[in-house]
Amino acid sequence: MFDYLIVGAGFAGSVLAERLATQMNKKVLIIDKRNHIAGNAYDHFNKDGILVHKYGPHIFHTNSKDVFDYLSRFTEWRPYEHRVQASVDGQLVPIPINLDTINKLYGLNLTSFEVEDFFQSKAEEINPIRTSEDVVVSRVGRELYEKFFRNYTRKQWGMDPSELDKSVTSRVPVRTNRDDRYFSDTYQAMPLRGYTYMFEKMLDHPNIKIMLNTDYHEILDVIPFREMIYTGPVDEYFDFRYGKLPYRSLEFKHETLDEQLHQPAPVVNYPNEHPYTRITEFKYLTGQQHPKTSIVYEYPKAEGDPYYPVPKPENAELYTRYKKLADETPGVHFVGRLATYRYYNMDQVVAQALTLFKKLSATKEVVKLADRAPVKLNGNGKAKTLNGVVAGISSNGKHKAD
Ligand code: FAD
Ligand code: UDP
Repeated sequence: MFDYLIVGAGFAGSVLAERLATQMNKKVLIIDKRNHIAGNAYDHFNKDGILVHKYGPHIFHTNSKDVFDYLSRFTEWRPYEHRVQASVDGQLVPIPINLDTINKLYGLNLTSFEVEDFFQSKAEEINPIRTSEDVVVSRVGRELYEKFFRNYTRKQWGMDPSELDKSVTSRVPVRTNRDDRYFSDTYQAMPLRGYTYMFEKMLDHPNIKIMLNTDYHEILDVIPFREMIYTGPVDEYFDFRYGKLPYRSLEFKHETLDEQLHQPAPVVNYPNEHPYTRITEFKYLTGQQHPKTSIVYEYPKAEGDPYYPVPKPENAELYTRYKKLADETPGVHFVGRLATYRYYNMDQVVAQALTLFKKLSATKEVVKLADRAPVKLNGNGKAKTLNGVVAGISSNGKHKAD
């Protein structure tokens, strides 16, 4: 009998497996329908011996000391600050848009103060700011919006930025200085030996059993467990009862080239040309020395593995209905990007999993306390503790005294 069946060996599932096994001595079975652990963060050495990210570039960044300290138990880090160039009007310029972007694009020589005036002279007043179009147009105006955001977003999401929640393009800041880093978080680093190695360390515990190539439906009736932690798509768990929640997918085209270095930046975005959105060159991310180089193209598509929840009002509404079902399902905990339908980065998923662990361990503490308290049966035969501590929850979701 396992205490927990964990569905999905990505960040959400693996963090919980590690915490439950090491901190609460729980017996955990973690499964994944893929043939590997690490979820979308999975990396591996390809046949030429270059470390690549199978599901597109994963760059770790966070402002949370707790999350960084937690992951540091399982990996050393390689300091890495991510940089991206965008191909616009026939040249490569920094994205996020900054002072150098504007000067290079328009052949100007503005200062930081002047570029703020420049943005303000172009910006349109929009109130309230609701959509991904509003965010950009109200900050830098329509021309830059069209050069950098409109077509990229249409390609990536299959819809116009005016249909998407403001949170999507808000992920990319606009700067008036020369800072050309993609992220400005306090902690920016890559796991020194890769993500998969870090996950191996996380899951290396005698209480944790790993089963790959297994959909959870295949084992539900075969392997006994007390509670489930589910990190797959939430609509799928409920057999699409209210209809499909849209998730955006991607196709990754990996290539190895017989040259030291292929492009002048770790990632080059192509807002306006090509069917792909961006090309990533992994050696920049990993720091690996190799005579060849590996790149990946990302082609957005509607069907396929679910990678991105699609932030827009009607999807949020549909998700609320699924969340209600999830909240009403005893003994199953929904966590992670797909199960809670949130456009979360890795660090946010780790934080969410650590929060769920706190909740689970606190509940178990209450149960332990209640177990110790003297119990008398009330009129309907249900247990009630004398000191008033709730005794109604146990690890299998059943009443303790039943
Ligand atoms: P996943 O990693 O998706 O894990 C869920 C697992 O559940 C999967 O392995 C799946 O196979 C398994 N599963 C699903 N259904 C079943 C089932 N029925 N039975 C068994 N197993 C099942 N974040 C960053 O912080 N920085 C980045 O640079 C970054 N880049 C990204 C680039 C791309 C292209 C994508 C798609 C995402 C990126 N992310 C990035 C986000 C990051 O991938 C996620 O935040 C993180 O991987 C989510 O972890 P998770 O455990 O919630 O989900
Ligand atoms: N975006 C854009 N042009 C760019 C970069 C980003 O229009 O050059 C928009 C696009 O809608 C994208 C979103 O901003 O989906 C968030 O970008 P981010 O790089 O965070 O996307 P992710 O790495 O999560 O795919």
